[in-house]
Amino acid sequence: MSTRPFPKLRPGIWDALVAAVVIVLAVVCAGAFWVRGTLAEGELTAVVSMDGQERERFALSDGEMERTYTNHGYTLHLLVQSGELRVAEADCPTQDCVHTGTIGQAGQSIVCLPARIVVQLVRTGGSSDVDVVIG
Ligand SMILES: [Zn+2]
Repeated sequence: MSTRPFPKLRPGIWDALVAAVVIVLAVVCAGAFWVRGTLAEGELTAVVSMDGQERERFALSDGEMERTYTNHGYTLHLLVQSGELRVAEADCPTQDCVHTGTIGQAGQSIVCLPARIVVQLVRTGGSSDVDVVIG
C-alpha cells in the first residue's frame, strides 16, 4: 500500500567494476582502431568534389604539393605536406575551409560551402567500404 523506496544501490564495488569494464572496453576499442589504422593497406587519397561531383583525386605523398581549385568564383589553395592536407588560402567569405586546418586521416574532410568544394580523405585499396574508381 505504501510505495517502497527504491533499494539503494550502494556505491562501491559495483561502480568500480562497471567503471573498470568501461575503461577496458574503451582502451580495447581505441587499440583496435589504432592497429587497424596503422596496418591498413592502401594509399591515403584526397578526393576533390565540386557541386557534389568528383573532379579529381590524388594520393597524399610525403612530399610537398600545391593544388588550386576554383568553383563558383572562389579559389582554394590546397597545400599537401608530409601526407597531410590543408587549405592554405581561400577567398571565400566564411573561411571555414581554412579554419578546418590540417587533415591527415581517412574519413576526414574539408568543406568549403561558398565554393561548394569538398576535399575528403579516403584510403584506397585496403578498405572494402571505399569505392575505388580506376579511370
Ligand atoms: Zn572556404
